Amino acid sequence: MKKAEVKEEIDNEKDSVDNQPGPSSTDEPKGEVDGDFEMDKIRKFLTNLKIFDTGDKLPKKQILNELTLDGIVEFIKKSGCKKIITMVGAGISTSAGIPDFRSPSSGLYHNLSKYKLPHPQAIFELEFFKENPEPFFVLAKELLPEGFKPTLSHYFVRLLWEKGLLLRHYTQNIDTLERVAGLPDDKLVEAHGTFHTGHCLKCRSLYDFTWIKNKVVEGTIPKCEKCIEGVVKPDIVFFGEMLPERFHQLSDCDFDQADLLIIMGSSLVVQPFASLVDRVKTNCPRLLINMEKVSGGDRLSRMFGIRQGFDFNPDDPEFGRDVAWIGDCDTGCQLLADKMGWGVSHLTIKFIL
Ligand SMILES: [Zn+2]
Repeated sequence: MKKAEVKEEIDNEKDSVDNQPGPSSTDEPKGEVDGDFEMDKIRKFLTNLKIFDTGDKLPKKQILNELTLDGIVEFIKKSGCKKIITMVGAGISTSAGIPDFRSPSSGLYHNLSKYKLPHPQAIFELEFFKENPEPFFVLAKELLPEGFKPTLSHYFVRLLWEKGLLLRHYTQNIDTLERVAGLPDDKLVEAHGTFHTGHCLKCRSLYDFTWIKNKVVEGTIPKCEKCIEGVVKPDIVFFGEMLPERFHQLSDCDFDQADLLIIMGSSLVVQPFASLVDRVKTNCPRLLINMEKVSGGDRLSRMFGIRQGFDFNPDDPEFGRDVAWIGDCDTGCQLLADKMGWGVSHLTIKFIL
């Protein structure tokens, strides 16, 4: 179910709650009892929606011996953990020198003043792009993933795959560094698209990275060679565009079967990516490796008390499952690899870097 449809459904359900027989919501001030009743109805309704699935009713038992990196390492070693999902954001590419292209303060926008953009984000808006693709391709020249090398964090994810432990890698990044690090296509979900391919906006013909790159480096706007007229847009997700179908298809089945979720280098504020952390089972441990603690989850479901994102300080630590390791991603990955005792592969990582 698409997000807009979900909202409509919720609105409809709210309407139907308002239309319940009994004290009218307009005749009298709402008492706490009515409020609770309505919230309960909405909560039950949302529970029936897959997207806000409260999921399993698993018996309460201790998952991690301690809510630390050591607790996670012990879990991986002893629990038969075979299906790890990694979710990452810009933080794993920082040490590669990738500029934060969404931030107007990154300096990338200085060359664009002559284009008189209505606002910096316009450069990633499809309607603006259709009218004037030139500013985007000027920026793209600065952003081309060529010349950037994967970080230790990228190679750590590849290591998980080599160890047979990686179910899937979900990335918000468009820099293709996972591919450069050697992660195979089938393990990769580029949630916000990628520079790796592009399509003609008119006839949808497919173009590969090399073709697009050559045009961008030449400083020409890539025009479709088949229909002649259409502009070829790299397959990165612009503001207002749908996420790739692959994201929805795989997230629907992956998260339910994950043994462990590792989130790295993301502030988890962009939806629907951020809400994925609540799609794993309630007994699935979640490790955050990041410069700061983040909440994750989805505001709407948090509001209705269904799923709440991370809980790093549970009332009863014995039943906690969320671990935060605060620091840069490369150091966190190195430490985790060390603690796992992945000696040879670990040396291989260092050698590659
Ligand atoms: Zn075309």
